[in-house]
Amino acid sequence: MKIALIIENSQAAKNAIVHEALTSVAEPLGHQVFNYGMYTPEDAASLTYVMNGLLSGILLNSGAADFVVTGCGTGMGSMLAANSMPGVFCGLVIDPTDAFLFSQINDGNAISMPYSKGFGWAAELNLQDCYRKIFENEGGAGYPKERAHFMAANRSKLKDMKAASCRDMLTVLKSVDQELLKARSPGRSLPSCSIRTARIRRSPTTCGRSDGDLVLACRQAALVTGANTGIGQAIAVALAEAGADVALAGRSEPTETLALIAATGRKAINIKADLSSIEPVQRVVDEALAGLGRIDVLVNNAGIIRRDDLLQFSEEDWDAVMDTNLKTLFFLSQAAARHMAERGSGKIINIASLLTFQGGIRVPSYAAAKSGVGGVTKAMANELAPKGVQVNAIAPGYIATNNTAALQADETRNRQILERIPTGRWGRPEDIAGAAVFLAAEASDYVTGQVLAVDGGWLAR
Ligand code: NAP
Repeated sequence: MKIALIIENSQAAKNAIVHEALTSVAEPLGHQVFNYGMYTPEDAASLTYVMNGLLSGILLNSGAADFVVTGCGTGMGSMLAANSMPGVFCGLVIDPTDAFLFSQINDGNAISMPYSKGFGWAAELNLQDCYRKIFENEGGAGYPKERAHFMAANRSKLKDMKAASCRDMLTVLKSVDQELLKARSPGRSLPSCSIRTARIRRSPTTCGRSDGDLVLACRQAALVTGANTGIGQAIAVALAEAGADVALAGRSEPTETLALIAATGRKAINIKADLSSIEPVQRVVDEALAGLGRIDVLVNNAGIIRRDDLLQFSEEDWDAVMDTNLKTLFFLSQAAARHMAERGSGKIINIASLLTFQGGIRVPSYAAAKSGVGGVTKAMANELAPKGVQVNAIAPGYIATNNTAALQADETRNRQILERIPTGRWGRPEDIAGAAVFLAAEASDYVTGQVLAVDGGWLAR
């Protein structure tokens, strides 16, 4: 995490003490500290607490910083100024208990501290303890823990309220006193930071990624089918971590997924639907629109598999797989695409399979349906590209989920599969999440009609 330190002019003389306390705690934890001053009372440019707030807004909204440590004499002014910025959630931290509770309950992205009031003997120890409470644990776990869900829900509502009451950062920059804007840095280390108000950077995910750099257009809304478990769950949570509100559509209650998304601070809604027929598709789209206001991303993930010898494969097993895996995927995409085309943008991501490319063994209807998914992905991509909608598919390799439980349990097949995967292990649902976030993001706007294999190298063999 990139931590920006910003200190008001009246406390500039304490910059070295605060910087030393912050780096001594944050750097061993793997964070980077950037000192934006003021550095000394003699600096040519002078930062007032109002400028502290403006600089906090610029650094956080541009992605130049993930967290701001600011402060002034009482801590109040810098906190108020920071909280006047879009996307900035700044807590007043005086002691380690404040720091801990702010981190666990409010999980904001800035703190303001008093560097004059109460800043006496051993003040640097208090600073270190505060920083430790903020940075040593993942924020947002709740306190007491059993109230974590309420706290996550309130954080989400507060974000929505702030988004509704604040202007975007570009408008703020155009509207504020331009002299104030020019003077907001004491000058030594402000990096060139482009303001991209439509984008947000996220911190490392709980799904195992550690890059933190995937970007999604801020306030995106995604609809994911079959997200109570497996690959769908990993994708839904990753999209939420990347900034999207998510509608989950499926036949089982997605209790765990709802909780995981709530913990990210994003909104999640559940739409109960049996997708073995196309009967509910229009209702699913209507409920997602009613709950989220729009659908920017549709992930067609729900799918089943039926295994039997070819010579006795039943019509029932053929129809069940074709209906859920292909027919519903197409008609749900059609219903969502009507909305996306009207808005001139959208992303459809279909979950295909290695059997989009290969025949497999004892799974003819699955191979047919997933090959069909490759076909309709390209067909939809061609017609929807001029309407601003990209359609792509992900072909997961062998991923350890319910879908492959029988294969994992079969000693011989398990060994054969592992021997053929160059990466030497089964995939995990989280392995698919990065590709989904990419295909949902602006970063993939020029990618359409593709089937992206995420298979540990299986197809390369
Ligand atoms: P999974 O754990 O079995 O998940 C399948 C999901 O689809 C579940 O949420 C399931 O809900 C939902 N679903 C199935 N039928 C449904 C229906 N009629 N209505 C609503 N939801 C339904 O398996 P997974 O591996 O994560 O599979 C997700 C997708 O990845 C599938 O399309 C699968 O074909 C594809 N895939 C998986 C692998 C792999 O190796 N695992 C490889 C390639 C492709 P319930 O829990 O209610 O059944």
